[in-house]
Amino acid sequence: HDPLPPLAGLTRAHLDWRPDDGGEDTPHSSEFDDVYFSRHDGRAETEHVFLAANRLPERFQDWPEGRPFVIGETGFGTGLNMLCAWACFDAHAPARARLHLVSTELYPLDRRDLARALAAWPDLADRAAVLLAQWPEPVSGVHRLWLDARVTLDLHFGDTAERLRWLDGRVDAWFLDGFAPARNPDMWQPELFAAMAARSRPGATFATFTCAGVVKRGLKAAGFAWRKVPGFGRKREMLAGEIATPPADERRRATPWFTPPAPCPRRRVAVIGGGIAGTSVAAALARRGVAVTLIDREGPGAGASGNRQGVLYVKLAAETNDQSRCYLAGLLHSRRWLDALDPEGSLWQPCGVLQLATTPREAKRQASFLANHPLPDSVVRGVSSEQASQLAGIPIENGGLEYPLAGWVRPNELCRRLAATPGVTFQRAEIDDITATPEGWRLSMTTDQGPSELDADQVVIATASLANRFAQTADLPLQPVRGQVSSLTLPENAPAPSRVICAGGYVAPPRDGQLTFGATFRPNESDTRVSDADHQANRDELTRTLPGYAAALEGAGAPLDTAAFDGRAAVRAASPDKTPYAGPVPDAAAWREAYALLAKDATRIPDLAGQHHPGLWISAAHGSRGLASAPLCAEVIASRICDEPMPLEAPLVDHLHLGRRLIRELIRGG
Ligand code: SAM
Repeated sequence: HDPLPPLAGLTRAHLDWRPDDGGEDTPHSSEFDDVYFSRHDGRAETEHVFLAANRLPERFQDWPEGRPFVIGETGFGTGLNMLCAWACFDAHAPARARLHLVSTELYPLDRRDLARALAAWPDLADRAAVLLAQWPEPVSGVHRLWLDARVTLDLHFGDTAERLRWLDGRVDAWFLDGFAPARNPDMWQPELFAAMAARSRPGATFATFTCAGVVKRGLKAAGFAWRKVPGFGRKREMLAGEIATPPADERRRATPWFTPPAPCPRRRVAVIGGGIAGTSVAAALARRGVAVTLIDREGPGAGASGNRQGVLYVKLAAETNDQSRCYLAGLLHSRRWLDALDPEGSLWQPCGVLQLATTPREAKRQASFLANHPLPDSVVRGVSSEQASQLAGIPIENGGLEYPLAGWVRPNELCRRLAATPGVTFQRAEIDDITATPEGWRLSMTTDQGPSELDADQVVIATASLANRFAQTADLPLQPVRGQVSSLTLPENAPAPSRVICAGGYVAPPRDGQLTFGATFRPNESDTRVSDADHQANRDELTRTLPGYAAALEGAGAPLDTAAFDGRAAVRAASPDKTPYAGPVPDAAAWREAYALLAKDATRIPDLAGQHHPGLWISAAHGSRGLASAPLCAEVIASRICDEPMPLEAPLVDHLHLGRRLIRELIRGG
């Protein structure tokens, strides 16, 4: 497919603060020589230009439960428009309606500037505080924020036209903002209007403060009907209008197999698997008002998610490929999601992660990674061994990368918390098989009381290495990988790292006086008994990675003696290409037939959407990075089930689709 451009670095907005007519502090853009809003009547202007001209109060009033109302905005700026839209929604919409805000921004404000700008609106203070608490790092891509139980904001950082081209979702009302066309001609281009049209729902409306000819012509050429309406204050006129029939989405013309399946009923969804993949999907759906039955043969926090500590981290490729874009997005997403879920930090510790370069090869790889990833230091930076030692508070012999936003999680407690989300019912059972019925799905299962059945509209399979045991997923390649962690009770005053340290394995800061390290990585092994051989492997890895620390432990009376180790072994699952599977389950037989010609000639792409088992989904193959990937994959699945904009760029959503395997097999001839 049309590939994503390389990861671009973002420039912060340069603001200067100028007194307005009334002498009040007003944010002004140095780049564009234009104001963000007027201090005097900015709110009234937003309400007139964007809310009233899109008829939002009336439309919100009648908005049904089900999919959310979607607003798209060009140029988030200080967020004033979106905060006002949120307040308007609260004032007018019925209790069960939901709102989804999508906004682009090429020059994100610094958090301090944002706070200063929003301080102009005391009655928006509570909403501004929510926005500020989740304000993302300046990294190009999609950042999902949870404003409250009903309102979601996706910030698409990057150039508007480009971001809208990658947007996987459709909009009901557009706020066509951005600095005035004369001051920002680069934005008001035909591509912008074409991208808006292609991402519109039928009948989508728009409103904009400007009446410039270039805007009128651009909108008309893209299929929007516009009319002049009275402008705000001294501005005589502005534009409002709609698009009756948006153009077809051409984006998946080269990859028709990834065309999303049509939405189907979702009163009750069964989620199979109580690990981080399953519980995060269950919570994401329940938050959207879907009744969920979560099923596991043990309980929430099963399998590899039952460990006492799990590391939230990623190992990104030196190049910015789709896989590493997904993991980077996943890390940033998990961090924000954990912050919102558990602000007190009882389920996790955002202590930061050091990824050491213990070989010259890895040091070289890290150097090229840093050169290829224009990321702020607050996301990742290179550190020397001295800096690493200082950060972690123990001797470290090598430099590496620091991920300040990462950390460690209590996966078991996290899964239990997610499973307790209102709307989720837990059922202990082993699912034997799932069959399609005219209404949805029937799950045959064995419970503590014996065989039983459960009917659901849709089903999500999230059972790691067992995810391909069902007839519908039987040919999904999944590799079981046994992993054992070891732990050691530290005597008081023994040295301990204050950061997670990774190289071949990891060692985490102690939890309740226990130091945990590991895990082993044994492909194609599914035995979950704790073994001394794996304890030895973990000890050897720790000693190799951190020799000075191992010696310090010995000196403090805590030698790395495997006889004193505790441990836990679990089986993780990996896909052959190491990207998770998240999305609808393809009907493999139908795909092989529909796309058979690809085997002869990979350019013979039929104009046929991929057929899927209706209402069957999967989240699996998270390997040992599930804390970074599973929560984002849960949003991907829940967003699609609920017919909402997606939390990732379209090519990345497609990259997670398990159909990628089928197409690769066909092209390579099996
Ligand atoms: N809607 C904003 C609010 O409620 O505060 C005000 C928007 S301000 C007038 C215009 C915004 O558009 C600025 O934040 C600017 O950085 C952004 N912008 C300008 N050109 C852009 C582009 N090509 N892509 C994305 N954003 C852009």
